[in-house]
Amino acid sequence: MADQIKLTYPDASVHEFPQGTTGAVVALSIGKRLAADAIAIKLDGQIYDINRPITRDAAFAVVTPKSRDGKVDKDALYCIRHTAEHVMTEAICRLWPETKLVYGPPTDDGFFGDIDLDKKISLDDFAKIEAEMAKIIAENRPMTRSSDAMTNDRIRALYEDNPYKLSLIDDLLKKGEKLSLYYTGPETPWDCNKPEGGLYFRDLCRGPHVPSTGRIGAFKLTAVAGAYFHGDEKQKQLQRIYGTAFATPKELEEHLARIEEAKKRDHRLIGKQMGLFTMSPLVGQGLILWMPKGGIIRTELQNLMQGELTKRGYSPVFTPHIGSVELYKTSGHFPYYKESQYPTIKSEAKKPNGEPEEEYLLKPMNCPHHIQIFAAEPHSYRDLPVRLAEFGTVYRYEQSGELNGMTRVRGLTQDDAHLFCTPDQVEKEFQSTVELVQTIFGALGLTDYRVQVSVRDPESDKYTGDPKTWDKAEETLKRVAKDMKLPHEIMKGEAAFYGPKLDFMVKDCIGREWQLGTVQLDYNLPERFKLEYVGADNNRHRPVMIHRAPFGSFERFVGILIEHFAGAFPLWLAPVQIRVANITESSQEASYKAAGLLKVEGFRVEEDIAASGNLKQKVKDSEESKVPYLLVIGDREAAAGTVSVRGRGRKDLGTMPLAEFIARAKQEVAERK
Ligand SMILES: [Zn+2]
Ligand SMILES: [Zn+2]
Repeated sequence: MADQIKLTYPDASVHEFPQGTTGAVVALSIGKRLAADAIAIKLDGQIYDINRPITRDAAFAVVTPKSRDGKVDKDALYCIRHTAEHVMTEAICRLWPETKLVYGPPTDDGFFGDIDLDKKISLDDFAKIEAEMAKIIAENRPMTRSSDAMTNDRIRALYEDNPYKLSLIDDLLKKGEKLSLYYTGPETPWDCNKPEGGLYFRDLCRGPHVPSTGRIGAFKLTAVAGAYFHGDEKQKQLQRIYGTAFATPKELEEHLARIEEAKKRDHRLIGKQMGLFTMSPLVGQGLILWMPKGGIIRTELQNLMQGELTKRGYSPVFTPHIGSVELYKTSGHFPYYKESQYPTIKSEAKKPNGEPEEEYLLKPMNCPHHIQIFAAEPHSYRDLPVRLAEFGTVYRYEQSGELNGMTRVRGLTQDDAHLFCTPDQVEKEFQSTVELVQTIFGALGLTDYRVQVSVRDPESDKYTGDPKTWDKAEETLKRVAKDMKLPHEIMKGEAAFYGPKLDFMVKDCIGREWQLGTVQLDYNLPERFKLEYVGADNNRHRPVMIHRAPFGSFERFVGILIEHFAGAFPLWLAPVQIRVANITESSQEASYKAAGLLKVEGFRVEEDIAASGNLKQKVKDSEESKVPYLLVIGDREAAAGTVSVRGRGRKDLGTMPLAEFIARAKQEVAERK
């Protein structure tokens, strides 16, 4: 080992420290304030405890609760939640010492811990557990990683009475891992055979953690559920307790408020209230039936997309819902993805060898069909790029437990397209697809997004194709992201096996992030199907394929939009755009006339016109059904040819001639406001 280690700071300056210096010491050498804020460190992008000795040269960064852009730091949250899980299980062990710990990881929005305990923990116990957790946090005990003196054998021996830990340990040992423990309290390696108690608590854990329990700024237990060890239903049922934690109480409050808001926006609830979609056990699980009002939203989205496709030189194609199994054997989708596909459809007639004469698969992907369209004709470099677009329905046999409203389904229609181009065209085509995605998201007000550029891990052997081609493609993608000033991050090892890709992570209006549009480069399928074009040199070349779907699928996208808008769709997308209501019997006729005129002008209109009726009730109904405009016509309006306009959210927009309202509304639709 070298005597000195070289650390490269985020500003690219290089600093030397004695071998084994801890992150805490390095942070202190940078500044007192930083050292006080520090939660962990990063070495070459990997998070480590702040007190772990650094033994090698690396890119060095300090993790603090707020990252440089002022946002909550994901890595800090990870450490906080990891530690909160230890604090929770310690609290449970203090209350019920017979508890056997299983395991518990941090999750995207909190953490959970699995325990084996005969006493059933209910929501009523949460206050008691939380109070105990608060005590442990107030004790502000250090989180200490076991030293190397704790050999794998010694750690294993500690868990002889815990079959879950033994099983987990044996799995880790099979993978050749060095086990580690984390002590809540200072490490006392020669003492830790003692039963738990006092201010010591330990758990098998890889880390990393915050320096001490006091750094958990705020926490809350959120739910309890049954769980099985390794998901095996034959084993004893365990209890899984969920919680979340943040650096500050304010962040926790905001998080809880977001969850409440999300519940109100649940697309399954709103979809039902507004009559957008339904499912029927007679049709089958995970199969969406679009009701008339949902059908309008889908059609409007499709029109928006079709308009853009036409402008951008895409050709519409149509392909069947099934394809021969041979097609998918060639593409590689069968049998590799068999688990996520419906079983094949086989003919009664058999070949002499007993195999069915014909065998079909419900289409899991549109790509192979589109490839056959491309392959049906010879191509010269002059006709490229060929851009084939289809609103193509595909089927995936998702596990029934995974199904969720419109966002996780078994039949879905993608706004799919495949571009076949020369390697030189990739950059331009990629750029233009990114622009398309931006245009579409912009039209829906989804303007807060970031982009993940997924590249391969050069160490791994799971990727097909020539490394040089990969390098070039990855450089292209990174350049596009940079040139187009997309807020992006490079995700190493996240590429598909057939090529790098770019995913749009979009924030909805309550700050939840969804993975939407994806653009993927593919060298594999052109190879498998031996696609060709004749180049300027008169030789045959392989085209490159780009797969892209800005919405992903109509089902999932509309599910997300319902939650984004909470059902209050903009005028151009709203299933019902305008309601017309009369006040008096004598204004009935004028109301029917106004509604008729609006329909002729192309608006989707609902009439709330009756001989008698209560205006208050009509306004309330209109609000509940989330219609953008309510036009009210009384005797005065009827006589003057005007309408009294109320915008959604009880906005009184005053009285105006009907023609003026029509002109305004038309402009609003045209601008997709
Ligand atoms: Zn841990
Ligand atoms: Zn595809």
